[in-house]
Amino acid sequence: MIDRARSDRILQPIRRGIYAIAEADLDQRRAVRLGGKVACLSALRRNRVWAGLDTRLHVCVRRGAHDLHTADASRVGRPAETPRSDTNFVADPGVPRVHWQRSATPDLSTGPSNHRDWLMPPLVSLRQAVLCQSEEHAIASIDSALRTGFVTADQVGLLFRHLPRRLQHLRAEIDPAADSGNETIVRVRLRRAGFVVETQFPLPGTSPFDLLIDGVLPLDVDSRQWHSDDAQISWDFDKVLASFGAGLPSLRILPRHIHQLWPETLAVIRRTVSEAKELRDFRRGAN
Ligand SMILES: [Zn+2]
Repeated sequence: MIDRARSDRILQPIRRGIYAIAEADLDQRRAVRLGGKVACLSALRRNRVWAGLDTRLHVCVRRGAHDLHTADASRVGRPAETPRSDTNFVADPGVPRVHWQRSATPDLSTGPSNHRDWLMPPLVSLRQAVLCQSEEHAIASIDSALRTGFVTADQVGLLFRHLPRRLQHLRAEIDPAADSGNETIVRVRLRRAGFVVETQFPLPGTSPFDLLIDGVLPLDVDSRQWHSDDAQISWDFDKVLASFGAGLPSLRILPRHIHQLWPETLAVIRRTVSEAKELRDFRRGAN
């Protein structure tokens, strides 16, 4: 039957004794070809959970695994002409990041859906992703995993029991109300810089702002990197007008202001907050 399925191209050989169905995507094929499972950031990203900026394939192999077909797995990846999008999570070509499976985490891998032969279980992948990223991206991945239902709040408790002491302080910084990973990163950076940051700040007549900084500056973090339709742009203009109308001039930033121009962006936020406070105090004094 296997021979027949192969000749009909229903099954394709991936590795000795292992076959892929035609629908298997590139990440799945590369991970199995390499002798492992899709893991860490790659497992998160295919579930639409925030997985930072590292677009390599992350694979987990058994402890002591050998005969890793790393060169084969390095050659292929997302074609350059296929733009990355919310639904195109396929990793870029290049050497995959290989994780070695821990032996003693059975309680992170329980559950009926957790035994796929090509994918690491959600909580194991999330733990790998926390260890594999910077602190701010790790917090963003946990926020996102909670928001999307990838893991439950109880499971996050379990996750922290399996994280090293040096990362326990991250728990206090988690807030699943964040709309996006980028929003989490801005919130974490601003709080660590000493600002008081409220999330999901409501303003009459418009949708809530992602963040309110020091009680005076509403800030929206625009994560729509790939598409922005006319209706959304029109709504964004309305929102700016609404905030000025309420006496709270707002800012709106894009991913590149966070990941490429943060010092400049932070300087603008600092100055705007400072001047907004002066204005607020002046008005209070005038009354
Ligand atoms: Zn990783």
